[in-house]
Amino acid sequence: MNFTKKRWWYLLTKPRIFLSPPHMSGKEIDYIREAFSTNWIAPLGPNVDAFEKEIAEYLGVKEAVAVSSGTAAIHLALSLLEVKRGDKVFCSSLTFVASANPILYQNAQPVFIDSEETSWNMSPQALERALIEAAIEGELPKAVIVVNLYGQSAKMDELMAICNQYNVPIIEDAAESLGSTYKGKPSGTFGRFGIFSFNGNKIITTSAGGMLVSDDVEALNRARYLATQARDPSANYQHSVMGFNYRMSNILAGVGRAQMEVLDNRVETRRRIFDRYYLQLANLPGINLMPEMLYTRSNRWLTTLTINEDHSGVSVKHLLKVLNDENIEARPVWKPLHLQPLFKDAKYYSHKENEHVAERLFAEGLCLPSGSGLTVQEQNRVIDCVKRTISSNINSEKTILENTRYS
Ligand SMILES: *Cc1c(COP(=O)(O)O)cnc(C)c1O
Repeated sequence: MNFTKKRWWYLLTKPRIFLSPPHMSGKEIDYIREAFSTNWIAPLGPNVDAFEKEIAEYLGVKEAVAVSSGTAAIHLALSLLEVKRGDKVFCSSLTFVASANPILYQNAQPVFIDSEETSWNMSPQALERALIEAAIEGELPKAVIVVNLYGQSAKMDELMAICNQYNVPIIEDAAESLGSTYKGKPSGTFGRFGIFSFNGNKIITTSAGGMLVSDDVEALNRARYLATQARDPSANYQHSVMGFNYRMSNILAGVGRAQMEVLDNRVETRRRIFDRYYLQLANLPGINLMPEMLYTRSNRWLTTLTINEDHSGVSVKHLLKVLNDENIEARPVWKPLHLQPLFKDAKYYSHKENEHVAERLFAEGLCLPSGSGLTVQEQNRVIDCVKRTISSNINSEKTILENTRYS
């Protein structure tokens, strides 16, 4: 066989397993059809109103505003907090770049805060040090953006206590944690503002979209105004402040409504996928799955693990390559933002003086296919590949012993 034929044969026998593809329920089309039959394509419309109401009810918040993306929601939150040129905004370092880009849109200065081990999220110690220094310099941040990584909530009690002490509002980036809880309360409802994303790879999707939520009804009414080009209420096409075109279309909100009906089911499925990975992989030498903190329930958006090369004999890079060769899409953990060329001038506070947690998680971390549509057979392909790679690379007698003891 020539290369192309081989490749085709390969793709037929080993179809691609994606990291977190969209998972439609089938009912989305009914909402879309309704939008078409009433010709309520845009702008806004009844699906948008209903989707906002459903999200607000699900979370137990007063108000929600549907927008074009999670990034737009963060940008609106920063605008509502009047973040301006030169202002400081603190942000988790271990996250997707979208958490911090809106800080730059406002010409403000990001300051990055390291993670801690138990949640992988913002370290309260690092945050406290950063705030103490900022207070001494007389330059407290206008906001702190706290990210809930891969569905796991950050240590909200500790983080909120510190922020309250300095009277700095929190924007909770819950883009990855819709359906998760912290001490029984929905993720995304702890900060002054919470934001969600319905991007294609998230736990539910509208193909593209986001939501800004808060109990501050007045602020969210202003968010609606800012998100529709800040058109003044009375006069014809009169504008007093700069606005954005950030609202969600009525068709996409219809997709969101159908997805909301299955959200709890999606959380259960992703948790089951995590449990299966855990059962099969947690005992391998050098492998640690992302922890779930006490009193939290993660939606397990992505099953994520760290792999210690000394104990497993395998590097993240090697395992990613083997998985990719098997036509399996796995990804490294987010590259910390304080290591990004984009943010090379930004300040950064590590967890402890000589302990850089986000950097270690990035060096050792890996996300496995976790879509709620993943079949048991597909998951077994991933599990077998990981097991095979590690058992064929174990390089010390100690780890072999450990391995047999557990299996
Ligand atoms: C996906 C994501 C965003 C951005 O959401 P978009 O809808 O893609 O703009 C922001 N923060 C985090 C942590 C994300 O994972």
